[in-house]
Amino acid sequence: MSKKQFQTEVHRLLHLIIHSLYSHKEIFLRELISNSSDALDKLKYLTLTDESYKGINFEPRIDISFNQAEKTLTISDTGIGMDNTELEENLGTIARSGTRNFVQSMTGDERRDSNLIGQFGVGFYSAFMVADKVEVVSRKAGTDIAFKWTSDGKESYEIEEAQRDTQGTTVHMFLNDEGEEYASRWSIQGIIRKYSNHVPFPIYLHFEETKYEGEEKDKKEVKEQKVEQINSASAIWKRSKSELKEEDYLEFYRQISYDVEDPMLYMHTQAEGTLDYSTLFYIPAVAPVDLFRADYKAGVKLYVKRVFITDDEKELMPTYLRFVRGVIDSEDLPLNVSREILQQNKVMAKIKSSSVKKILSELESLKNRDREKYNLFWKQFGVPMKEGLYQDFENRDKLLDLAMYKTSGKEGYTTLAEYCERMTPEQGGIYYITGGKENVLRNSPLLEMYKNKNIEVLILDDEIDEIVISAVPKFKDHELKSVNRSDAAESLKTDDDREREKKIEPLIKKIKEKLGDRVKDVVASTRLKDSPSCIVADENDPTVQMQNLLKAMGQAGSMPEFKPVLEINPDHEIITKLENAGDDAVVEDISLLLLEQAMLVEGMELKDPNAFVSRLNRVVNRSL
Ligand code: ADP
Repeated sequence: MSKKQFQTEVHRLLHLIIHSLYSHKEIFLRELISNSSDALDKLKYLTLTDESYKGINFEPRIDISFNQAEKTLTISDTGIGMDNTELEENLGTIARSGTRNFVQSMTGDERRDSNLIGQFGVGFYSAFMVADKVEVVSRKAGTDIAFKWTSDGKESYEIEEAQRDTQGTTVHMFLNDEGEEYASRWSIQGIIRKYSNHVPFPIYLHFEETKYEGEEKDKKEVKEQKVEQINSASAIWKRSKSELKEEDYLEFYRQISYDVEDPMLYMHTQAEGTLDYSTLFYIPAVAPVDLFRADYKAGVKLYVKRVFITDDEKELMPTYLRFVRGVIDSEDLPLNVSREILQQNKVMAKIKSSSVKKILSELESLKNRDREKYNLFWKQFGVPMKEGLYQDFENRDKLLDLAMYKTSGKEGYTTLAEYCERMTPEQGGIYYITGGKENVLRNSPLLEMYKNKNIEVLILDDEIDEIVISAVPKFKDHELKSVNRSDAAESLKTDDDREREKKIEPLIKKIKEKLGDRVKDVVASTRLKDSPSCIVADENDPTVQMQNLLKAMGQAGSMPEFKPVLEINPDHEIITKLENAGDDAVVEDISLLLLEQAMLVEGMELKDPNAFVSRLNRVVNRSL
C-alpha cells in the first residue's frame, strides 16, 4: 500500500467543488453514471474495433446498490476499467487539459471561481460532496489484477491491490450527513430518471423488498433482494433515423411533452463535422396553455453526451419559438455547463442558430407541401411567429416568407408572395390596414379608395401586427405601406385628384383655422368614398392604434401627444355644402364634428364628450 498526496490543484479543486456546487449536490450521481457510461462506450468501441479485445465477455451495464443502515452507496460498471497508474493519473492529478486550464485560471476569489467552474466538468471529485470516504476498485479490461484507490478527499489517497471478478470499475461511497438521503431507492430512481434516463446502457438498481409470509397469526417478515432496470436506456435522438419509426417519435413526444395529441411536425437532425450534435424537435398540434405567459416553461431540454443537463433554459430557443418541444444533445459542451456559460458559449450559439434555421425551413416546406396543415399551424402559432419578425433580424426574410395575413382580396390567409403575384404594376407597394377587429377593418372608411381602385389590402387584425409590421419596411422589393398613414395614398394620386384638391383649398384653410392645434394638418383625401372624413397618422408618428397599444402597455407617459392629420372627402355632399356655408359658427361646429366622428370611428376617446354632444345637438336642432 502506498499513500500519496493529491496534487495541489486537485486539493484546491476539491475544496471549490464542495463549497460551490453544494446546492446541486445530487449531480454527483449524474457525474459518476456519466463516467461509467463513458467507460462502457470506450470498451464497446474496442470490442468492435480491436482484435485483442474481441474475446472479452462484454455485458455492458451499470449497477447501483446501497445500504441505508451503513450509509453506503455503490456504483459499478463493466466498462474499460483502470490500472494502478491510470487510477493515480485520473484520480490523483489533474490530467484533463480542460480542468487544468480551469485550475490555472482560478483566482482564489471564491465567488468568481464558482462561476468559472461551470465551464468545466467537475466529474469524479463531486463524490466528495456527499461522501467522506470513497473507494474505487477497478480492473482494466484485458488484465487480471484489480486495484483499490481510497481517499477521504482531503490531503491524500492510497492505492493497493484488490479483487474484482470482471473488468470494470466500482465506486463505493461512505456517505456523510449531506449524502445520507441518497441511500434510498426512491431518491436514486428520481435522480436517474431526471438526469440519466437516456444513458444508452441499462442501469440496474439493487434493493431489498420486505414481504410478509404465512398465516395472520404467525406472519413472517421476509426480505427479498430485487434488481430492476431504472432507465429507459435509449437516447432516441442518437439512434439512426432509418431505424426509427413514426411511432417511436410519437412515443418520445408523449414522454417529454405530456401532450395528449400527436405533434403536428417533428424533425430529427444529426450533425457531424465541426460540431457534433443531435436535435429532435416537435411542433405541437395545439398551442401550450402558457404560450402567452411571461413565466412559460421552456420546451427544449439540453443534454450533453446523452446526459441530461437542464430543461429550464429558455435561451435554447428564441422566445418566438417557445412552443417548440424537444431535445438538443451536444458532444462538445462540458457536462457541468452553467447557465451563464450557456448564454455566452459559441458552441451553443451555433447549435441554436442552426436549429432555428432547421425549424424555419421545415415550416417552409410544410407550407409548400400541405397548405391546410400549415393554416392550422398558423392559427395556433401565427402570433408568436410574428414576434420573430422584430426579434430575429437574421431570419427576417425567412419569417416573412412564412407569415400569412387576412386580406381584402380573398377568403382565408394569404402569404406576402401570393399577394405580390396578384398586385398591379402601378400600385407601388403592399398595402395593409391595422387597428381593430377584422370586421371593423374590412369596413373602415380608409379602405374605400383601395376598393375603388381594386387594390388589395392586407387585414392585420392581431394586436401584435401594429408593432411588428412597422418594423418591417419591405418584402423583397416591395415597400409595405400602412393605409392608416397620410403618405400611403400619395403615390396613388391622379391629376384629377390634384384638381379637386385645389378646388377645396379655401375650405381646408377655413377648417384648419377652426381646429387650430387639435390637428397636425387638414388635407383633401383621395381615399374616401362614402365617408366625409377620416384621420390618419403623420408619416413619422405612431398610428392611432399604436398609440392605444402603447397606452395599454403603460408606456404612454414617455410619449409626446401625437396629433392626427384630418382628411376630408372633396366629393362628399357635406363637404360641398360646407364650402357654401356662410355662418361662421356653423362651419366651426361642422369642422369639429368632422374631426370627432373620424376619431370615434378609429376607436379614440374624445377629450370633451360634453362639448361634442352639445355641438351635435346644435346641428340636429338646426336641421329640424
Ligand atoms: P471526466 O470524466 O470529465 O474526464 P473525472 O474526474 O470524472 O473527469 O474522471 C477522470 C478520469 O477518470 C476520466 O477521464 C476517466 O479516464 C477516469 N474514470 C473515471 N471514472 C471511471 C470509470 N467508471 N471507469 C473508467 N475510468 C474512469
